[in-house]
Amino acid sequence: MPPAELSQLQNALLIWFAEHQRDLPWRKNYPAYGVWISEMMLQQTRVATVLDYYDRWMKALPSIPSVAAANEATILKLWEGLGYYARARNIHRAAKQICEQHAGEFPNDYEAIRQLPGIGPYTAGAIASIAFEQDRPVVDGNVIRVLCRLLNLDADPKTGSTQKKLWQVATDWLPKGHARNFNQGLMELGATVCHVQQPSCLLCPIQPHCQAYVHQTTETIPRRTRRKAPTPVTKAVLVLVCENQVLLRRPEQGLMQGLWTFPETLVNEEEPLVELQAEWQRRNRPNFQLQTNWPTLTHAYTTFLATLHPFYCTLISIQADFPLEAEEQWHPLQSLPKLAMAKAHGQLRQSLLNQNDQDSP
Ligand code: SF4
Repeated sequence: MPPAELSQLQNALLIWFAEHQRDLPWRKNYPAYGVWISEMMLQQTRVATVLDYYDRWMKALPSIPSVAAANEATILKLWEGLGYYARARNIHRAAKQICEQHAGEFPNDYEAIRQLPGIGPYTAGAIASIAFEQDRPVVDGNVIRVLCRLLNLDADPKTGSTQKKLWQVATDWLPKGHARNFNQGLMELGATVCHVQQPSCLLCPIQPHCQAYVHQTTETIPRRTRRKAPTPVTKAVLVLVCENQVLLRRPEQGLMQGLWTFPETLVNEEEPLVELQAEWQRRNRPNFQLQTNWPTLTHAYTTFLATLHPFYCTLISIQADFPLEAEEQWHPLQSLPKLAMAKAHGQLRQSLLNQNDQDSP
């Protein structure tokens, strides 16, 4: 793009952002800690969803040392429902690292930011530019869409060569000294005007510079790659109650690491309860009695789609006879709301608490 036109584009975007930016809590004085937490929460998650989480988090953990000192259960409870829990665990690890290596102050050196767990080039660029006003570019999903359309770039944005080109453009187009607002302007435009479908081009401040608008290719650019269909899996979930306590597991590894779940087992669709009982017997576990089966739930994970058949059961023998396996624990029913649970299991927790209210005299 010729320098004069680039300058017009930069000015138009900066003016638009100054007038139209959303009022977001981490934009008040741009504290590095707040910008970092917001960026971590916003990965794969919409602003509207993040607002309540951000507010709760900041009230509970107002500083980086308070994050470092918190236990993992507190961190996961604050993150409960946001998904992609590795982000929360990375924040916890990074906070400890910041306390050990940077006296509890978020580092402003780009390379030091990159050394923190869970921080890749995008998040490092966002924190460096937004919190510390350094001339660092950002390329996220919104920026990719805006840049591809401005350039009328009909290429798969996921390929290494296209990514490299977009990072180069984001670097070249950055107006020196204005990275905070220019980067946010690109992202804000992508989120609120340059929508995936039916972008609001007539309201767009940089429309005179947009090649996709000129060539009427905004519906096909950026090129969309077909996602692999998630693998379907079916599970039976056992909500097992005995003596006012419920059996829970907390996996130490994997997708659900650190989150409480009801015990579950992979089954075929046809007779999930029969398979659950058979599995239980294979492991020499005490019999249980079905009280009721609750409606089937589905939950989409990144690579698979889980169908859950939940069964509310009671243990026939007394709890003391029950041999607990690794990662299992009995929990009083009244303590359930305090535990961080995987999303679908959190829904089952609510069913159990409702059931308990109904059953109480
Ligand atoms: Fe996006 Fe339309 Fe603006 Fe181009 S003119 S950047 S397609 S909103």
